[in-house]
Amino acid sequence: MKIIRAEAMGMCFGVRDALGVTRRIADPASVTIHGELVHNPRVVRELSARGFTVLDETERRDATPATSRVMITAHGISERERKRLEERGHELIDTTCPLVRRAHAAACKLARMGCLVLVIGRRGHVEVEGLTGDLEQCEVVQSAAEVRAYDAPRLGIVCQTTTAPAVANQIVDRIKELNPDREIHLIATICRPTLDRQAAVRSLLGRVDALVVVGGRRSNNTRQLAGLAEAAGKPWLHVEGPDELQPEWFADFESVGLTAGTSTPDDVIGAVHQRLRAIAAAHEKDQLPEAM
Ligand code: SF4
Repeated sequence: MKIIRAEAMGMCFGVRDALGVTRRIADPASVTIHGELVHNPRVVRELSARGFTVLDETERRDATPATSRVMITAHGISERERKRLEERGHELIDTTCPLVRRAHAAACKLARMGCLVLVIGRRGHVEVEGLTGDLEQCEVVQSAAEVRAYDAPRLGIVCQTTTAPAVANQIVDRIKELNPDREIHLIATICRPTLDRQAAVRSLLGRVDALVVVGGRRSNNTRQLAGLAEAAGKPWLHVEGPDELQPEWFADFESVGLTAGTSTPDDVIGAVHQRLRAIAAAHEKDQLPEAM
């Protein structure tokens, strides 16, 4: 079984930079991380083990961190939330990715232009909550099926930074179709690392029988990579680590592609690759003809 790695995969600069900040903090016990720094359970466990308090994402809204310092994750927060934390006396350590900031600026610009802002993304995701948190008039759109005729003369569209371009295009087309008389403004906010990883998987899918995607189950961009295989009708497997790979699953494949989401550490990708090599070697051994 041949294993082909995607040309672009794994951690993006936004996640690497945020993790770099945590490594430089000498007294982790004085810091609460405002949600999961990255959507990768192993990384979150390591941060907790170092002494950081990690707030659960479902509880972070209106939460009062017990520490004096609060770290904002790469996913960003709304200005309202930032103000709330500062007014309670917290010192903020901000690791918001610059490309998330760019998406916030785009959404605010559209709002200032008088648009109803349509945010293409996953409802309830922390980045989307941050993006919409300062907007008076906005709506989150997850799929083309949710699109409707909007009761606003001007529509502004932005995307969660990790949205799959194909999904975004479908939704934008549907918005235009159902709102032919509206003034529509679109600002491109899908981040470059997401675009590169999606393009790499699309080119890989034509060359492999199946795809293995490595990343946290709550990671939006990891799920989007698996979604590409699903849309192409290719078998796919989403794993968080090497222990989840079962040799039987690979029995019928001659080639397997490997990719990983933007929050997956390099060593986890390496461990999955190594396990795939071991499975491939075992398959080859099984296929050897019996010695005479
Ligand atoms: S996925 Fe994109 S937006 Fe998110 S942290 Fe990485 S580079 Fe930034």
